[in-house]
Amino acid sequence: MLTALRRTRRALVTTHKHPDVDGISSALALGWGLKRFGAEVQVVSPGGVPHEAAFLPGVESLVPSPSGRFDTAIFVDCPSMERAGLEPGAVAGAIRLNIDHHETNALYGDVNYVRPSMAASAQLVLRLLMALGLAVNPQVATWLLAGLYGDTQGLRTASTDLRALRDATALVEAGADAAVVARGIFGSLLHGQLRLWGRVLAGVEECNGITWATIDRAAWAEAGVPEGEDGGLANFLLGTQGTAVAALFQESSDGRVRVSLRSNPGVDVAAVAARFGGGGHRQAAGCTLEMSLEEARGAVIASLKRALHESRRGVTAG
Ligand code: AMP
Ligand code: MN
Ligand code: MN
Repeated sequence: MLTALRRTRRALVTTHKHPDVDGISSALALGWGLKRFGAEVQVVSPGGVPHEAAFLPGVESLVPSPSGRFDTAIFVDCPSMERAGLEPGAVAGAIRLNIDHHETNALYGDVNYVRPSMAASAQLVLRLLMALGLAVNPQVATWLLAGLYGDTQGLRTASTDLRALRDATALVEAGADAAVVARGIFGSLLHGQLRLWGRVLAGVEECNGITWATIDRAAWAEAGVPEGEDGGLANFLLGTQGTAVAALFQESSDGRVRVSLRSNPGVDVAAVAARFGGGGHRQAAGCTLEMSLEEARGAVIASLKRALHESRRGVTAG
């Protein structure tokens, strides 16, 4: 991986579609590192930058789609080629580097650096930059801390281990602005999203440790919120007492249903999402279903019930 990074002359750096702060920050930081080696770099945020990531310094340098040819295509925080927001052929002939922390990563790169035990891809990029002998400056440190905060909900998720805490400390020591990061990650909810939450939470359902909510097409339209920008509602649902698993069902205008899953340790929602063609992490995963809202809810809740039942059986037996 290090040799491939050093050899790059024309690099495309990109992340998954519907990008989040970890993906965008990791791509920006890696792009910075490659430029230090004299490479020409295009950092692509597929489809543009979501408003939650707009606070990151330097996001204006991102482009929504690639142009030109590349010797190396680097995917960060992207579990599969299908999840990359690139046209087929956009990176034809380029060496593919896959840098990611998703449990369900498909190892699609010519070189893969995949560590599911890491809380954020930003931590992998930090290690690569250090191994390349690059000292991160305050801006790069701020990006990487933002990625780590984004994927750990501000160092609060179960994935927040000693390494994550130490990396956060190292990044602050390197000059990361923790206040800007915290405000950026937790101060970006739009008023429309608050209205959306109000409406959606009025219909929240709960059954035996599973808590779920639904955003149908009418809810998006009435709140005036772009489809898919739920503001992290699934994480909020998991924060309720007695909830072991949370699910958020989002209806999109193409008729498909996007499902966000969150769990406390003990239930592997990546495995549940994978059963429906999706993936993610043990405690945070997603999938997209080609069925009606009602069918999607029925199928996913049934699968979650089974997973929860098995985990409880495992606990009493063990
Ligand atoms: P989300 O609920 O959209 O915030 O996604 C939670 C986690 O699951 C993230 O790490 C996503 O990258 C991953 N994820 C979401 N949807 C999919 C999918 N269809 N396929 C693979 N991974 C997904
Ligand atoms: Mn991501
Ligand atoms: Mn990530």
